[in-house]
This record gives sequence, C-alpha cells and structure tokens, in this order.
Amino acid sequence: MRFDVVTLFPEMFSALTQWGVTGRACEQSLASVQLWNPRDFCRDSRKTVDDRAYGGGPGMVMMAKPLDDTVAGIKAAHRDAGIESGPVCLLSPQGERFSQKIASDILKLGNLTFVCGRYEAIDQRFVERNVDMQISIGDFVLSGGEIPAMAIMDAVIRLIPGALGDGESAAQDSFMNGLLDYPHYTRPEVYENLSVPDVLLGGHHAKMADWRRQKSLELTLRLRPDLIESARANGLLTREDEQFLRSL
Ligand code: SAM
Repeated sequence: MRFDVVTLFPEMFSALTQWGVTGRACEQSLASVQLWNPRDFCRDSRKTVDDRAYGGGPGMVMMAKPLDDTVAGIKAAHRDAGIESGPVCLLSPQGERFSQKIASDILKLGNLTFVCGRYEAIDQRFVERNVDMQISIGDFVLSGGEIPAMAIMDAVIRLIPGALGDGESAAQDSFMNGLLDYPHYTRPEVYENLSVPDVLLGGHHAKMADWRRQKSLELTLRLRPDLIESARANGLLTREDEQFLRSL
C-alpha cells in the first residue's frame, strides 16, 4: 500500500513511520509513506503557501497553486515509477465519516494521496480541480489534517496481510465482524480480588469461543445498539446470537 501525503509538517509523520505496527510495516515495505511539502513547490523566495481570504474573515487560506503543483508532482512521480495514481483524498471535517469499512476500501485501492489542510481553509479551486474524496475523522475540528491522515493510515496498515505480528489479529478487532471486541485478560489470575473468568482458564476452546461471542454481543448491545441493528441487517448474526440477545 502506497500513501502520498501533502503536508506542511512532514516531520510529524515519524510518529507513524518509525513506531510500532505501522513503523514495522514501513520497514518491511508492506506500506510506504511518501511526504510532499507544498513549500518545496513554491516559486517565491519566501515560500508562501497561504494568504488572506477574499471577503475578509478570520484566518488564512491555503493557496491553490502550491497545492496544485504538489499534486502534479506526485502524479508525475507515479508515472515515472509506472504506478497508476489512486484518488486524492482531502482530510476535512466536512468529509464522509471515517469507519472500518472505509479503511478496508482504501486498502483495496493500493494507492492514495492525502492532502492535509492547515489554517482556516483551502482555496476551493484546488479542491474542485484535484480532490476525489473527503474524509472526516469525527465531528470536531483539529488544527490540521496530519493527525487524521495518520489515524486513517494506521487503521489501513493494520489490515495489510502480514502487518500485525504473531498473536495479533485485525480480524478479531472491534467492527471487523460488525460487533465490539470482547474483554481480554492476562496474568495474574487474580488481581485486586478480581478473577479471570473461569471459562478462560478451562482450556475448552468451543466454550471459550462461545463466551467471547456472547461477551461481544452483550457489550455491543449495551454500548452500541446501533451496531447490533446493522449486524442484523447485514446478516452477521446467527440464530444462536439472536437467541442469546433475546435472553438479555
Ligand atoms: N475552517 C474549517 C472548517 O470549519 O471546516 C476547519 C479548518 S481546520 C482548522 C484545518 C484542517 O484540519 C482542515 O483543512 C482539515 O484538513 C483538518 N481537519 C480538522 N478537523 C478535521 C476532522 N475532524 N477530520 C479531518 N480533517 C480535519
């Protein structure tokens, strides 16, 4: 999976490319993150990337030209490398709400360019000319698109086969089967008078699987009943699941 990222703060991405699961995936070339700073595409000596808004109002607006030239530079690099350019995605509070489903869809693309906004806004003409999709990570406003881009890349990289080490699995994460994850325990067996549930100590695999499924259902019903409805609508619940839900 290749990501190209347009950002005024490329240094921030070391948090993604040098640490943990995502760092290891980059090191093993399962994922590549290419960083592009629009200042490198400015022709003036001050490397200006923003200006005041027409019509007034607070804050600065990112200019279309440096961003346009950066995206053109990325597409040229793809051509030189014989790669087909994927879509250009703007991180924006106005975009489609990010989800595990979108993470899976991005993985299938194989190649995506993120544009991280800064300041008050981006000149709309850049958006109209270049942007294919917009993603939001939630109904709140951050100072820039870098943290949203990293959050999305992390979620996608976890799904790359081989990105998670032995014993880790994206398949059992929350949302992967439409439900929330079940509770987990590790040593010691008793901690502050709280014991690990007996079923997890018995070594009976079928019973443990049933317990985990039921805990997932119970937790999802309590915390996110909307997910139970979607799982039902998508045919992800078995007859046993429905029976258990009724018993709650
Ligand atoms: N004035 C803009 C608005 O109200 O929609 C907010 C601009 S914000 C200060 C600067 C940049 O941060 C945005 O261009 C976007 O790239 C990024 N950003 C902020 N919140 C975001 C969110 N919830 N999801 C994705 N990107 C976000």
